[in-house]
Amino acid sequence: MKTLLLQNSSDDINKAADILKNGGLVGIPTETVYGLAADALNGKAVAKIFTAKGRPMDNPLIVHISEFSDIEKYNLVSELPKFAKKLADNFWPGPLTIIMKKSEIIPDEVSAGLDTVAIRFPSHTVARQIIRASGTPLAAPSANLSGSPSPTTAQHVINDLDGKIDAVVDGGACEVGLESTVITLATDVPRVLRPGGVTLEQLRDVLGEVELDDAVLNKLADGAEVASPGMKYKHYSPKANVVLLKCGDSEYINYVNNRKNENIVALCCDEDIPLLNVKTYSIGRRNDYASQANRLFDELRKIDNDGFSGTVYSRLPSVNGVGLAVYNRLIRAAGFEVIDLEKN
Ligand code: AMP
Ligand code: MG
Repeated sequence: MKTLLLQNSSDDINKAADILKNGGLVGIPTETVYGLAADALNGKAVAKIFTAKGRPMDNPLIVHISEFSDIEKYNLVSELPKFAKKLADNFWPGPLTIIMKKSEIIPDEVSAGLDTVAIRFPSHTVARQIIRASGTPLAAPSANLSGSPSPTTAQHVINDLDGKIDAVVDGGACEVGLESTVITLATDVPRVLRPGGVTLEQLRDVLGEVELDDAVLNKLADGAEVASPGMKYKHYSPKANVVLLKCGDSEYINYVNNRKNENIVALCCDEDIPLLNVKTYSIGRRNDYASQANRLFDELRKIDNDGFSGTVYSRLPSVNGVGLAVYNRLIRAAGFEVIDLEKN
C-alpha cells in the first residue's frame, strides 16, 4: 500500500476524512502524540489498527470526539457520570482521557472486551477538523509500532508505518509530547490509571478524592490483573541500560563523576551539565516538568541513535505535577531498576 502524505489544508482534511469513512487508517496530529485513527464504530476498520501497529489485541483504544456532546450524539456510554461534565468543563479539549461504562455501540475491538470505553476530546485544531469531517468518532492509539517510542512528528509516523496505513496528515510537532492522562470514572472513587499533562493535583482540585492506581509507580506482580492493560506492556526503553538513582542533587553528580572506568552517560537536567564530566543528555531545567515530559522520549531516542550501549544514569524524578508522568515513563524505561543512595 502507498501511504499518502497529506497537509492540513481543507482539501487534504476532507481526503483524510473520506479514507476514514471508508474504513481506512490515517495518522493524525494531536497535542499529545500522533494518533493512528480509524472509524471507532466500525470494528473491521479498528481491527486494522492492531495489525498495522503489531499491538496486542487485549490493549483497548481511546475514542476521540470533537465536541463534549458527541458522547450523547453517538450514544457512546451506557450512563454519563456527573463527574464527566465537571472534568470536561475543566480539562477538555485537552490531554485527559475519561473512562466510562460503554454502550452496545462500541465494538469489542475498541474496548478489548472490557465493559468500559476511554474517551478524549483533543485540543489540536487539525485533529478536531478531521473528526468533524469524518462524521464519526475516531479510535486512535499512538501511531508507532508497538514497543517503539510514541511519535511526535509526521516523519516519526512515516518511519514506523510507511506502506502499512493509507495516509498521514502533517500537523507539525506535538505540543505535549507525552500521552494523555487517563482517569476512570467506572470505579467507586475516580482513579488515575496513567499520568500525563493533566496532573493528579489538578484532578483532585476539581473532583476532591482521586486515587492513583498502583501500577503508575510500581512494578506489577507477574500475572496481576491491571486496570489499564497498556500499563503491563514494556514502554519505550533505549538499548542501553537505564539506572535511576534515588538521591539529592550533589550525590547524583558525585556518584556519576566517580564511575571512572565505566561506559556511562547521564540523562540529567540543564543545571547538572557544567558539573558532570561524562556525556550528558538533558531533558530540561530541574523544576520545569513540562519540558522534561516533552523531551524525555526524544533524548532516549538520541541515546539510541548515538549507538550508545553502556549505562545511562538518571536521577529518580519528582512525583509532583507533570513530574509524575515523567517518573512513570522513566521508571519503565529503566525496567524499575533504582539504586537508593539515601539508604546507604
Ligand atoms: P495509547 O492510545 O497507545 O496511548 O494507549 C491507550 C491507553 O489507554 C492504554 O494504556 C490502554 O490500556 C488505556 N485504555 C484504553 N481504554 C481503556 C479502558 N476501557 N480501560 C482501561 N484502560 C484503557
Ligand atoms: Mg501507545
